[in-house]
Amino acid sequence: MSQYEKQDPTTLYPVPPFPKQEQSLPGAAWKMDPKPDHGEESYVGTGRLEGFRGIVTGADSGIGRAAAIALSREGADLVLSYLPDEQEDAEEVRDLLEGEGRKAVLFPGDISDEQYCSDLVQKGVDELGGLDTLVMVAGRMDSNDDILTLDTSMFDSTFKTNIYSLFWLTKAAVPHLEPGSTIVTTGSIQASTPSPDKIDYAVSKGAIKLFTEAVAQQLAPKGIRVNSVAPGPVWTPLQPGSDDAETVSTFGQQAPYGRPGQPAELAAAYVHLVSPESSYQSGSTITVAGGTPAF
Ligand code: NAD
Ligand code: MG
Repeated sequence: MSQYEKQDPTTLYPVPPFPKQEQSLPGAAWKMDPKPDHGEESYVGTGRLEGFRGIVTGADSGIGRAAAIALSREGADLVLSYLPDEQEDAEEVRDLLEGEGRKAVLFPGDISDEQYCSDLVQKGVDELGGLDTLVMVAGRMDSNDDILTLDTSMFDSTFKTNIYSLFWLTKAAVPHLEPGSTIVTTGSIQASTPSPDKIDYAVSKGAIKLFTEAVAQQLAPKGIRVNSVAPGPVWTPLQPGSDDAETVSTFGQQAPYGRPGQPAELAAAYVHLVSPESSYQSGSTITVAGGTPAF
């Protein structure tokens, strides 16, 4: 079944309750039950990104993996970023894409480090012979019920990973981007409907929305578009990595569909924002949240 077949979205994927499970961050896709769908068996490309050269962060698992698979099947060559601990997930993605005849280069590292961010962009330029696409999906989320125990190191780590990295990667990439290039960030419905136990995360996601909107205006005269995808609840290692087993077992239940989204359901939004088909879109956010309202 491809993404083009008519189907009932409410019954398309598993609904909670899910088996109780927890992982330590960053978490691994291969350990999840049920296994997330990243579009491995379903995403069909139609040549929308033939000749594109891109970097995808967080490409080993979850939404980043789904975006990488889709961009690759549309014709893009990619450099994939992820944390060294996620090598196993990352190799699965690389093997899949290379097996389909595309270039997919692994470059692990920590995006909360400015030097790695600039090395990653340089790796993209060197390996791909230039760069026109920067898709930033990586993000850190943890839970904490009490601001008195939300320590500075966690707050700092969330901000370095979720927002400083966007600044560092964008700054490194812009000198290489020609008109027609695109930057895509990954926000969250947490930016408009924050959870009480995710203060640092929600604030960082609010910052991502404003970063996207401000940078889009600044780069518009250069012909570079900047947009964002704001997911609702999506079945990825972020959940068992950040929430307790009880919360994970009912994850997505509150969405109008009564289930979380699967990473594969986010892929088309990334493809659309990278493709020239969205030429008049810049500074915009596509919400993909199963009917959950976002503002
Ligand atoms: P995920 O765990 O599969 O992906 C997150 C990725 O971020 C990891 O695979 C890891 O490679 C990367 N990462 C984290 N810290 C890093 C660091 N310091 N250096 C380099 N890479 C790092 O989970 P996901 O849900 O697919 O998350 C992808 C994005 O979607 C995140 O920005 C997240 O905030 C956002 N998001 C997810 C949900 C959801 O419900 N899953 C909802 C809204 C937004
Ligand atoms: Mg991962």
